Amino acid sequence: VTVPINRGRPRTALTIAGTDSTGGAGIVADVRTFSAFDVWPLIAVTAVTVQSTTSVSRLVPIAPNAVAEQIIAVADDIGIDAAKTGVLSSAATVHAVATALATLVDVPVVVDPVVRASTGDVLGDDDVIGALRTALLPRAALVTPNLAEAGRLCRADPPRNRRDMEECGRALLEFGVGAALVTGGHLDGDAAADVLVRVDHEPEWFATARLAALGTHGSGCVLSAAVAAGLALGDALPEAVRRAKAYVTGALERGVVLGRGPGAVRPW
Ligand code: PLP
Repeated sequence: VTVPINRGRPRTALTIAGTDSTGGAGIVADVRTFSAFDVWPLIAVTAVTVQSTTSVSRLVPIAPNAVAEQIIAVADDIGIDAAKTGVLSSAATVHAVATALATLVDVPVVVDPVVRASTGDVLGDDDVIGALRTALLPRAALVTPNLAEAGRLCRADPPRNRRDMEECGRALLEFGVGAALVTGGHLDGDAAADVLVRVDHEPEWFATARLAALGTHGSGCVLSAAVAAGLALGDALPEAVRRAKAYVTGALERGVVLGRGPGAVRPW
């Protein structure tokens, strides 16, 4: 028997997020996205959600120190090339994650500030928003809020037009994050336009034609996971965002209706 040659470890990306029993969002969406980019998935589970396509009926948090231990275990043994966060259900979880990531200075971190499911159910309260602002954004390379999340983080009404989106993106930089990608999919108009705001750069717009999608459940997860995958592969941030936007557009086009509620995107 000959032992196959070990060709070195693949690029890795870590998702620090919750499970979604429908398979549409959360860790499943992230892992499927990493795989599509040929990036090895590492996972730190933050919460188990009990949900159908119509509602989230329960959110069971994992102990914050167990979340931190999952991160440290794979960082020590395997190595993390990039990370993303999704549902962080309490301020204590945000702090535990920030502390674990503080030792991993070279790992680019993408923060998807998820506080509400597409069904409207709450996945994180004001304390989580506050902890994201003070503890996690200063450590992150990128934050990817949609309009509602951008408003909550900026302590303002959700952006209503492109100028508001740029302004909120700039305000987010004040919290110490490297860049903000404010996604405008919920804005009226015939384009879905997102803006990348970085320190010392003009805002960069990424627009695609608006699609008649079967559903958007999971789209935020897929976007942030695709950016993290790009960063794990060594892409510069604007290139990672460009590829991620194209990938989400494909996932929306392949969208599926699974149950009685709205449809989900389909990463591939
Ligand atoms: N993570 C989990 C576990 C969820 O259940 C949800 C939404 O239901 C999300 C993240 C956010 O999903 P989206 O990608 O639609 O913003």
